[in-house]
Amino acid sequence: MPARGCGRRCVYCDQRAITRDAGGDGELTPDSVRAFLSRYSEPVELCFFGGSFARLERGLFTRFLDAIKSAPPGSSVTFSSYPGDFEGEYGEETAEILKKYPIGTIELGIPTLDPDALASCGRGDDPDAAVRVVEFLRDAGFHLGVQVMIGLPGQTDESSTRDVKRLASLMGGGMRCDFRLYPCLVLKGTELEAMFLRGEYRPLALEDAVRTSGMLLSEAESSGFDAIRVGLLESPSLKESVTAGPYHPAFGELALSEKLALELSHENPSGPWRIERRLISRMTGHGRRGIKRLAELTGMTVREVESKLSTSALIKCS
Ligand code: SF4
Repeated sequence: MPARGCGRRCVYCDQRAITRDAGGDGELTPDSVRAFLSRYSEPVELCFFGGSFARLERGLFTRFLDAIKSAPPGSSVTFSSYPGDFEGEYGEETAEILKKYPIGTIELGIPTLDPDALASCGRGDDPDAAVRVVEFLRDAGFHLGVQVMIGLPGQTDESSTRDVKRLASLMGGGMRCDFRLYPCLVLKGTELEAMFLRGEYRPLALEDAVRTSGMLLSEAESSGFDAIRVGLLESPSLKESVTAGPYHPAFGELALSEKLALELSHENPSGPWRIERRLISRMTGHGRRGIKRLAELTGMTVREVESKLSTSALIKCS
């Protein structure tokens, strides 16, 4: 639902480029969703992404929610929204409506809580208001997700780490929250592209973005978040739209390999390391990036790292 319900213009945003190949043509209707859902016999998770779902005109909002009644029992609705959609009386009314439906997750776009970065992005959000919304929805019993970004204008690694810690502190009590992490890309036709072309914005280099992502993922997972996505969904329309920035079709895998290398080096700086077999590709994929990075972090040679790393079977050196 590219940009539907959203009247803002964040400098980096082009939801059409991001969602077009995922069927986000903006023509979705409650009837088309119903027809789609009636094909299923097993429970589904119906997801509305790309705009500000809770800001849709009320009648349309409830008709989209009603569509879940056409899905098999046990199905749920997940959607993304702008935190401001849940402020004040309007937000309370929205939460009351949502309580009547099987809501899976409410994902809040909180790219950062750094006021300077928010202002540079043209969002004009009040970070404290976003925090209050998280608390309000948490206390109302909804399962939450946060969509966080790195590499925004005016953002630093330190402020990103502070964001994750602050958001994590809102969970507590063993409560877990979904976590999506997106590196900021310069997309064609956006204000950010104009800023980039004027030399006012310098995007993160790919390697820097991978390292920051790995560090934040590790921080987030140990603080009560479940990382469910890193990097935008790869698609031809996204690829075509990227002017600059840390774009890589397998960005998430690179970030996960960085996370694993970081964790192994912290847990045991001199090895040996034994990892689950399912994780081995994070060390050996993409030109053995994880192994090379672990060597860099521990001051060993690649061969030494390979000799100290095992799953249930030893890894063969190439
Ligand atoms: S609030 Fe979300 S959908 Fe709206 S312009 Fe900003 S990033 Fe795009």
